[in-house]
Amino acid sequence: MKPLRVAVVGAGPSGLYAAGHLLEGPGGTYLDGRLTTLHTRAVEVDVFDRLPTQWGLVRHGVAPDHPDKKQVATVFEQIAARPGFRFFGNVEVGRDVQTEELSEWYDAVVYAVGATGDATLGIPGEDLPGCLAARAIVAWYNGHPDYRTAPIDLSGERAVVIGNGNVAMDVARLLTTPIDTLARTDIADHALDALRASRVREVVVLGRRGRQHGAFNNPELEELGHLPGVDLAVVHGEPADSADLDPSSARKLRTLHDYATRPSTGAARRIVLRFQTSPLEVLGTEAVRGLRVRGPDGDEVLDAGLVLRAIGYFGTPTPGLPFDHDRGVIPHTDGRITDVPGSYVTGWIKRGPRGIIGTNKKCARDTVRSLLADADAGALRAGTHTGEEVERALRERQPALVDQAGWLAIDHHERAAGLAAGRPRVKVTDLAGQLAHGVR
Ligand SMILES: Cc1cc2nc3c(=O)[nH]c(=O)nc-3n(C[C@H](O)[C@H](O)[C@H](O)COP(=O)(O)OP(=O)(O)OC[C@H]3O[C@@H](n4cnc5c(N)ncnc54)[C@H](O)[C@@H]3O)c2cc1C
Repeated sequence: MKPLRVAVVGAGPSGLYAAGHLLEGPGGTYLDGRLTTLHTRAVEVDVFDRLPTQWGLVRHGVAPDHPDKKQVATVFEQIAARPGFRFFGNVEVGRDVQTEELSEWYDAVVYAVGATGDATLGIPGEDLPGCLAARAIVAWYNGHPDYRTAPIDLSGERAVVIGNGNVAMDVARLLTTPIDTLARTDIADHALDALRASRVREVVVLGRRGRQHGAFNNPELEELGHLPGVDLAVVHGEPADSADLDPSSARKLRTLHDYATRPSTGAARRIVLRFQTSPLEVLGTEAVRGLRVRGPDGDEVLDAGLVLRAIGYFGTPTPGLPFDHDRGVIPHTDGRITDVPGSYVTGWIKRGPRGIIGTNKKCARDTVRSLLADADAGALRAGTHTGEEVERALRERQPALVDQAGWLAIDHHERAAGLAAGRPRVKVTDLAGQLAHGVR
């Protein structure tokens, strides 16, 4: 029987998990706690990414000082090594190839493009230079080629992070962690150089609600307490009554109480966790010079050279596909994209920017089950192109296509450079450099 040919758009966790479920390993798939065979079909999967590299936010989101969380990449490596897997990197859907073409060429298409935009605050001054989405600094320190030259100005003594979820914790930590610690990670070299010269002494993290409503998780909050050379302060937000809190919120409160009562050591750097404080206006004319905020004691101006919005990533539309502008997701039923038969969705662009890496595994499995059910029901229109025809068409349009061997060459180069430097890898962070290793 002719293999089922599927395009997966996006080589982040959700796309690679989808590829993994489609190219199911010999053991099958865990379902309700048991190993189950999802299907016995022959499947070929072509994974596309607009970048020459794989792993999405595992490479460009997860903090460099959390190498354990990047271990999941070994699972993605195993998936990519399975027969039937191909990679088309440096191929952007919407630029190099259109959604309508993929629908025509393949039996089915899975969109796993993640959340490529950012939520905004809607306050005056948000567009001033020096006021950026947390995505910019995260992508910058993680070596995303689009953010290599992001205007991250670390010349001011205070940076303010608006929002207090885990991304805010990552950013506050990265801005204050001793440089020798960062130098042992896979942080981008340009970020390491800039952080070495950084004059930021204080990072203020703002949360609108009270302490027990901090959006951070307990491990991320507790990690701050172990940063050498960093004092912690907690301002506002002690609840009147904390007796009825769930265990997780109670633990947050205990940690915050500990931070609030720690004596200052006069350390060179400080993180201030402020609660019940809302941003009103980003101040400045040519560039950011501060933030006007409202807290329980009234309005106040925080002088700052850098203001970062860590209030959420947000999906952006893919040309040719429907889009829910309020939620920033592609509308679907059980992973089937509304009104686009044969097209499916998974990951952050399906659920919104929530959930850890592992959440995408079940999400992708649910989507793949819908796709396979449609294939079994004969509901998919057969694609027009063989694997060779697709590759020929793509290489004509994008001669700098990076295939699986090309990505492995980039990966090998980075790891070898890392080995020599006592780091997990030294990332190649510019597109030209990546293509020099990856185009063959
Ligand atoms: C700052 C940050 C830190 C995080 N830290 C952790 C952590 O420590 N632990 C944890 O479990 N989770 C963490 N997460 C969450 C985790 O990264 C996400 O759950 C996961 O990456 C979402 O996977 P995804 O595949 O939906 O999207 P993504 O990872 O964003 O992957 C989408 C991929 O699609 C590609 N793409 C986009 N548009 C196109 C296009 N038009 N054509 C071709 N390709 C395209 C992108 O280049 C990207 O490679 C973090 C998230 C962030 C933002």
